[in-house]
Amino acid sequence: MTNKESLKDLLPEEIENRLQTMGYPAWRGRQLCRWIYKNSVDDPGQMHTLPKSLRDELKDSGNLSVLYSLTKPPTTPFQTKKFLFRLRDGLAIESVYIPAQTRKTVCVSSQVGCVMNCSFCQTAKMGFKRNLSPAEIIDQVYQISRFTESPITNVVFMGMGEPFLNFENVIKASRILNHPLAFNIGARHITLSTCGIVPGILHFAELPYQFKLAVSLNGADDAVRGAIMPVNRQYPLSELLKAVKFYTDKTHRRVTFEYVLIKGVNMSEKDAENLIRLLSGLDCKVNLIPYNETRSHFMRPGDDEVERFFTRVDRGSFPVTIRKSEGRAEDAACGQLYADELKPA
Ligand code: SF4
Repeated sequence: MTNKESLKDLLPEEIENRLQTMGYPAWRGRQLCRWIYKNSVDDPGQMHTLPKSLRDELKDSGNLSVLYSLTKPPTTPFQTKKFLFRLRDGLAIESVYIPAQTRKTVCVSSQVGCVMNCSFCQTAKMGFKRNLSPAEIIDQVYQISRFTESPITNVVFMGMGEPFLNFENVIKASRILNHPLAFNIGARHITLSTCGIVPGILHFAELPYQFKLAVSLNGADDAVRGAIMPVNRQYPLSELLKAVKFYTDKTHRRVTFEYVLIKGVNMSEKDAENLIRLLSGLDCKVNLIPYNETRSHFMRPGDDEVERFFTRVDRGSFPVTIRKSEGRAEDAACGQLYADELKPA
């Protein structure tokens, strides 16, 4: 195994194959997966049912963890918490743990930084550094599950980065999260959120997996959306909506539109009317997310403004929800995490 590669980059069947090429039977691979994913042990030295020769070989290839947490575990089990992780090359990423009654969700990052340059987003200010490997993506879920001592039931790709610009690694990571010999998280509990990369949506629609799609919309006409999301110049709303329709027709799965509410920017009466018109007839739901005020010049709307916009949009043919949050970390959504703490070691 190379220095850069981790067993966590591999699907369980690939781990079996890898062990076979090392001279061990395939079932040793399943045994190894149980240690990693069921027993949450990623130090080969502690995997006492494996032969010593294998433990030594795995040890020589380096620790299976590819992230180092910079965050203390939550003090109470039911607490939303943002986690900072240092990568092996010194860069850092963040993830959010969001527990609720029946589900434990992790919002993961797919890239270090982001190239999409949405004007309201702190991650965009970092610029783009690099894609995350499958291991670096799933290790966010792995480490948070260990810290919080709770099995994770849902994963959303709404942290740093644009998942469809790291397509292969994100899909591989999602398959590992879904795999019964790994995390065993239901495919419909894994959501990929894009800012509107049309070829990515079309490609995603053709895959044989049941993972869900969310689209970060944030504007209901090209002028409003284009002013805050440069991606709209490359893929205007007409193309985006055509791709989403292709996705819903092909997969028969509902799409979620995330709409970050920014005071004075995208929440007028006309915006509400445009949103209703834009999405009418589409199998979708809309999630309204009050802007997470940062050091940018954009402002979070008051609760009354949010309610007013909600009431107007709720006249549409699709369900609408407001994501209420008591703390900043709960605003996990594309462009809603803070990047200013994320500096190389
Ligand atoms: S909002 Fe999302 S897509 Fe846009 S720059 Fe930020 S991380 Fe990238």
